[in-house]
Amino acid sequence: MDHFLYRDGILHAEDVPLPQIAAEVGTPFYVYSCATLTRHYQLFEEALSGLDHLVCFAVKSNSNQAVLAHLAGLGAGMDVVSGGEYLRAKAAGVPGERIVFSGVGKTADEMRLALEGGIRQFNVESEPELETLSAVATSLGRVAPITIRVNPDVDARTHEKIATGKSENKFGIPIAHAREVYARAAALPGIEVIGIDVHIGSQLTELEPFEIAYTKVAELTRALRADGHDIRRLDLGGGLGIPYERSNTAPPLPLDYGDVIRRTVGDLDVEVEIEPGRLISGNAGLLVAGVIYVKKGDGRDFLILDAAMNDLVRPAMYGAWHDIVPVIEPLPGVEQAPYDIVGPVCETGDTFAKQRPMPPVAAGDLVAFRSAGAYGAVMASEYNTRPLIPEILVKEDQFAVIRARPSFDEIINRDSVPPWV
Ligand SMILES: *Cc1c(COP(=O)(O)O)cnc(C)c1O
Repeated sequence: MDHFLYRDGILHAEDVPLPQIAAEVGTPFYVYSCATLTRHYQLFEEALSGLDHLVCFAVKSNSNQAVLAHLAGLGAGMDVVSGGEYLRAKAAGVPGERIVFSGVGKTADEMRLALEGGIRQFNVESEPELETLSAVATSLGRVAPITIRVNPDVDARTHEKIATGKSENKFGIPIAHAREVYARAAALPGIEVIGIDVHIGSQLTELEPFEIAYTKVAELTRALRADGHDIRRLDLGGGLGIPYERSNTAPPLPLDYGDVIRRTVGDLDVEVEIEPGRLISGNAGLLVAGVIYVKKGDGRDFLILDAAMNDLVRPAMYGAWHDIVPVIEPLPGVEQAPYDIVGPVCETGDTFAKQRPMPPVAAGDLVAFRSAGAYGAVMASEYNTRPLIPEILVKEDQFAVIRARPSFDEIINRDSVPPWV
């Protein structure tokens, strides 16, 4: 459920008509709804109620500081995967003790940044990383709290590019070797072992892979405790999927996901962390674009938008589906026709949808991509020297530009030409 609904035939973000935003900031733009962010965050709070827990928003899904500040205000922690994301979360007002640092390639500089600024824990993904972290922490006179990310060798049954829990993926240490690595960690001077971490992938549409992975984590918790480790926190990752296609069956609900957590690790007397990104921010955002041309092709017609693959790469990168709807509500029963919906970038991959049935659309009309709040703006680039598009945040009848469109001067002045050219 989201707060982007037609009212009097016009698509709104909460109480704001989208054409009003388009008139003020131009197209294309991203728009996020505070009420939807809140609702989705609260679903996880409800799902874990009664458990000692912290919901850490996966910053990589949407890292705008206004979004982070809104979620932090509700009590969310943050899961970051780079020094830049760590600094963004701090800049948004999130205290270090609510920031978890994940990622397979943390550098010594990033570790230093987080140790100095304060950190809840590092989720360590390899033995060399453990050694580096211990050395960095020791050099600062500190001890780094850690979990070790285990790879449970579970098929998340999602897109291959976002599956992370199979043994052939680069993430975590094989769960079969975990006891040796924990023993090694416990012996390092700059390391304090506090728990276990697992994250098996993104856009999961079934609960069974979570159940299998979390059951393995519960077994490992008992084994590590028997080995003498004080396992008091389990970070269970993110990954719950969202319905990108309204006409499809819906993925599992956070409440049912919470039941899986209770069933598998609920009796272990641990603090539970989860790291949802997409389910909190995905349906809380739209990408709004203008139609530049309607082009009649040979056997197929094209809608050429002012948004492109550089603004929203998911269709080009993962073959992902986004529902695309006109901002002015079509009349009931109006006839639809198939279009290839494309952007202006000079690549055939710049195609959002093929042969998508659409109601009549004309140049100058606005269309909205649903479920674009996660892995949208954060993955954008300036390919074709197209400026990063603005982000807008709506709360009831107010809206604000939370990232402005850069001018061409700003973009062009970023390069410098050496005198010897
Ligand atoms: C990407 C990622 C997440 C968030 O995944 P979603 O599918 O957006 O919920 C959480 N934890 C880690 C370690 C990740 O890499």
